[in-house]
Amino acid sequence: MKIAVIPGDGIGPEVVKQAIVVLEAVAQKFGHRFEFQEVLMGGAALDAVGVPLPDETLKVCLKSDAVLLGAVGGPKWDDLSGHLRPEAGLLGIRKGLNLFANLRPAKVFPQLKSASTLKEEVLGEGLDILVVRELTGDVYFGDKGRAEIPGGQKAWDTAVYSTHEVERVAHVAFKIARGRRRKVTSVDKANVLESSRLWREVVSRVGQQYPDVELNHMYVDNAAMQLIRNPSQFDVILTTNMFGDILSDEAAMLTGSLGMLPSASLGEGKLGLYEPVHGSAPDIAGQDKANPIATIMSAAMMLRYSFGLEQEAQAVEDAVSRVLEQGYRTADIATPGTIVVGTREMGHLIAQNL
Ligand code: NAD
Repeated sequence: MKIAVIPGDGIGPEVVKQAIVVLEAVAQKFGHRFEFQEVLMGGAALDAVGVPLPDETLKVCLKSDAVLLGAVGGPKWDDLSGHLRPEAGLLGIRKGLNLFANLRPAKVFPQLKSASTLKEEVLGEGLDILVVRELTGDVYFGDKGRAEIPGGQKAWDTAVYSTHEVERVAHVAFKIARGRRRKVTSVDKANVLESSRLWREVVSRVGQQYPDVELNHMYVDNAAMQLIRNPSQFDVILTTNMFGDILSDEAAMLTGSLGMLPSASLGEGKLGLYEPVHGSAPDIAGQDKANPIATIMSAAMMLRYSFGLEQEAQAVEDAVSRVLEQGYRTADIATPGTIVVGTREMGHLIAQNL
């Protein structure tokens, strides 16, 4: 399997390197062959060729089976204008690969329960939620503008969804739910928004094709509340671009640590983009301090969603769990009595524990 690798900037190269160490251990243990091809994006690409997303990068990614990305950006490139900022590469690659479903798991490892902002009794047996956010429609991409009116200006952003856009992301959510606890909660604002009413109709219709998956609908204001009150009621949360933007951060933060959060973005085929939720953390770059687990867990998602290697994905997640159980922590998740290790050692421990 061909994997395009975009190390990016800051801690990106450090955490990506450890994900590759773990993927190579998976290949050896399970008898696979992964071919890695490194390409440039973000600040690294700006320095080398003057654009944040070189054509060559997109070409290599499109020819690959999956893309593994570290993070991009940093103070060095902060003063550049919009289309030349490293982050422009992120939007460009998502668009170029036609990725429309963003998957953000929020999982609390029992060993890290104390890092959560929630009380133990609310967390119960732990937390394992997957937010599926639509990525290409809604108020972010609809008609927007400004006009002069008496006394000032008016401005608008239009929330737009088509049947097709809702259908394709709903199928992603229902299919994934089948490999989990078979429950989809679709989140919208159908009591107020017409685009949400279409969303709800289409999701209900798609849901009929998955009679083995339980579907319920929830208004976004209630969902925001329920995530804090009783998060274990959720399995897969399916939602629109803007509500997903907000709820996925809320759900993620219930786990308490940025260095632990993976993500995946999927399109029609098997090609997906896998990256940690965190940024390039310039404050700790090059110091062997970054937590590589978010990137390693992103690689596990790659095994599961792009390669269909469920057993291998599970093996990586179990290895992470085992290393935490043994008391090893990077500095960001360390608590008294645990053993603090660096980026490299954490990656090697996880590979060893496969
Ligand atoms: P950040 O996520 O990089 O860092 C926030 C804080 O969390 C920092 O204190 C950092 O040290 C810590 N942190 C982040 N990841 C960590 C890890 N794996 N292990 C240990 N600690 C970790 O967010 P920021 O500081 O707001 O942004 C820094 C740069 O990253 C900016 O240029 C921003 O634009 C960019 N960024 C990129 C992405 C991406 O590539 N997807 C996402 C967010 C931010």
